[in-house]
Amino acid sequence: MAILVTGGAGYIGSVTTEFLRSRGEQVVVLDNLSRGHRAAVAPEVPFYEGEIGNTELVTSIAREHDIDACIHFAAFAYVGESVSQPALYYENNLEQGIRLLGALVAAGVRRVVFSSTCATYGEPQRIPIDEGHPQLPTNPYGWSKLFVERILADYDRAYDLKFVALRYFNASGATPERGEHHEPETHLIPLVLKAAQREIERVTVFGSDYATTDGTCVRDYIHVTDLAAAHALSLDYLRSGNSSTAINLGNGQGYSVLEVIDAARAVTGREIATEMQGRRSGDPSHLVADSARARTVLGWQPQQPDLAAIIGSAWEWHSKRPQGYG
Ligand code: UDP
Repeated sequence: MAILVTGGAGYIGSVTTEFLRSRGEQVVVLDNLSRGHRAAVAPEVPFYEGEIGNTELVTSIAREHDIDACIHFAAFAYVGESVSQPALYYENNLEQGIRLLGALVAAGVRRVVFSSTCATYGEPQRIPIDEGHPQLPTNPYGWSKLFVERILADYDRAYDLKFVALRYFNASGATPERGEHHEPETHLIPLVLKAAQREIERVTVFGSDYATTDGTCVRDYIHVTDLAAAHALSLDYLRSGNSSTAINLGNGQGYSVLEVIDAARAVTGREIATEMQGRRSGDPSHLVADSARARTVLGWQPQQPDLAAIIGSAWEWHSKRPQGYG
C-alpha cells in the first residue's frame, strides 16, 4: 500500500511527503516540475515526472504501487496570475484535476485528501471564517479549487470516493531542509525576506485602503509543518472509515501586511523598505480561520502558531539557501 502525492515537489507537497515518510508511510510522488523542484523530493522516493491528467500514467502508478489514497496538491496557486490568466487555472487545476480523479476512481482508489484553500470563501461575511461560511470566490484560483471540491462531493455520492478538503489559510515557514521557492516569487513572507537580504530593493504593499486596522490586507499565517501534520491526520480519518468533510487550517489569528513586515524586521534585525501600491486584483480584505473543526474532527493541534517563529523558520532556510533549490 502506498500514498500517491501529486505536486510532491512543491512547497507544501514536499514538506508533507517528508512528514508522511517520517511516520513510516510509503509515498509515491507525481509532479510535472512546472513549478516544483526535483531537489525538494528525497532521491529514495519513487518519483514520476508527468501530468496528473495523464490517465495512463496515473493508472499504471496506482497498479504498480498499490495506491490506496491520494493527496492531491498539484495546482497553480497565484491569485494575481489567476485573474490575468484564468485559462491556465481552469486547464491546469480543474481539467487536469478531473482527469486525475477519474483515473483514481477507475483504479479503485477511494480516498483523497484535497489541497483546497480559504480563497474558496471570497470576501468574508464574518470573521473568523468557519467551514459553513458561504463560498463565493473573488478570483479564478479560488473558483478552480471550489469546482474540484464540488466534483469530489458528487463523486462521493456516485462512486463512494471519500475525501477531506483541507482549506488552507496562508502556508508559510520552512523545515530545516525544505522551504518556499517559487519562480517568480509572489508570496509576501518570502518577498519580505528577500528584501531583508537586499535581493530585492523593497516590498510592495498591495493596497492600504482596506477596512482593516491599518488599511492593509489581513491573513492567517500557518506553519507548513502544521499543514503537513493535518494531511497525515486526514489520512487516518479516512482510513477509519469516516465520511467526507471540509476542514479549515489556520491559526485563528490575523496579521496585516504591515504587521508581517514589522515582525520580519524584528526577526531578521534588518531594514525592510516598503512601497505602497494599489490593491492587487482578486484579494479579499480579511481571511482568518475558525479551525475548531480541525481540532475536534482530526485531533489537530498546531505546534508552531507564533508568527515570529514561522518567519524565523523561513529566514533560517532562506539564509542557508538564498537561491532556494536552484
Ligand atoms: N502582498 C503584498 N505584497 C506582496 C505580496 C503579497 O502586499 O509583494 C499581500 C497580498 O496582497 C495579500 C497578502 O500579502 O494581502 C498575502 O499574499 P500572498 O500572495 O502571500 O498570499 P495569498 O493571501 O494571496 O494566498
